[in-house]
Amino acid sequence: MSLASGVEYLAIPGPSVMPDAVLRAMHRPAPNIYDGDLIDLTANIIPRLKHVAQTDGYAAIYMCNGHGAWEAALANMAIRGDRVLVAATGRFGHGWAEMARRMGIETDIVEFGNTSPIDAQQIQNHLGRHDPDYYRAVLITHVDTSTSVKNDVAAVRQAMDQAKTSALLAVDCIASLGCDQFLMDAWGVDVMVAACQKGLMVPPGLAFVFFNDRAAERQRALDYVSMYWDWAPRVAPEMFYQYFGGTAPTHHLYGLDVALNLIMDEGLDNVFHRHATLARAIWAACDAWAQGGALRLNVADPQHRSHAVTALRLNAPDGTRLRNWTQSHAGLTLGIGLGMSTPTDPKGDGFFRFGHMGHVNAQMIMGLLGTVQAGFAALDIDHGTAAIEAAARIIAQG
Ligand SMILES: *Cc1c(COP(=O)(O)O)cnc(C)c1O
Repeated sequence: MSLASGVEYLAIPGPSVMPDAVLRAMHRPAPNIYDGDLIDLTANIIPRLKHVAQTDGYAAIYMCNGHGAWEAALANMAIRGDRVLVAATGRFGHGWAEMARRMGIETDIVEFGNTSPIDAQQIQNHLGRHDPDYYRAVLITHVDTSTSVKNDVAAVRQAMDQAKTSALLAVDCIASLGCDQFLMDAWGVDVMVAACQKGLMVPPGLAFVFFNDRAAERQRALDYVSMYWDWAPRVAPEMFYQYFGGTAPTHHLYGLDVALNLIMDEGLDNVFHRHATLARAIWAACDAWAQGGALRLNVADPQHRSHAVTALRLNAPDGTRLRNWTQSHAGLTLGIGLGMSTPTDPKGDGFFRFGHMGHVNAQMIMGLLGTVQAGFAALDIDHGTAAIEAAARIIAQG
């Protein structure tokens, strides 16, 4: 019998759980877009966004998803015939590279596979073989959501400095902003992209490109920038519509305002601590399950694991069986495996992910783990014991 009736938990790595307060803020009649509180509310969103990104630079808002943010960032950094370097640690690194190629930007990839982080030394070696101005930008993902690999952004900056490249450092923080600590200015990041539907807890529809003075200066020297993606009017609007290159994303702004308040009220450090502790509870349970069965964490070294998403594998087809069971029997939707196999690979049905980003707390994570434990029992999937106890100990220590 299904026991799924009740509050559902969408534990996929985005879109994430939406706070009721965000939804309530969005549930309102259409606001005036020419004057009134929406204008001030938007102006007040910008400094809080920059606080979450830990930057004194600029924040441009776009009405799109993460893919749009990729294109927006590229359109302000390079034109057809320019060259960028991509360090790939999963599907999303390749996605950004593909976007660049389709814009006519020459794109080289340094591949780090599906289970390892970027080796900064390799980036340095690669850059060292070319002129300082050979690449316009180096593109990396802070967290690649497909593999749950977390990269050391500061180390990549150091490698770029050592190699004396003039390239901008552009970082995809779509899965990490508001989940894993990210220090845009301190780490020397020139351009950063994010979206609202993951750590920022707002339904999909807004994306952000943060950039510094160095990137702004480079952008001004480009031969052209497509009008819609041009970040310049969006960060210095003379008229309200210029924030968005057209009509404002009215209701999303009300939602984002409340979501940013939730983050500010909890405190950014506490938000990071919560994500880190919940992630450690998940890993502790997975380590225990792994003792007596096929379950494996995708990333071996905890230092290189995301605090927002955990990629896992079982023997195929148990990953898919488990997802189907938790959804249909318990109201818990787990994430599919992404980019870990080709569509015809029989191992594909072994991969799955836990999303634990944004509006999640200890009881939800303990519920997730207990539900997975029940799924193992229901489906006769071999697993080690004492996983829930191991997770509970982490939660108990706080
Ligand atoms: C989700 C995600 C994307 C893509 O965002 P969409 O909103 O689905 O276009 C890109 N990069 C990373 C790291 C992501 O997590």
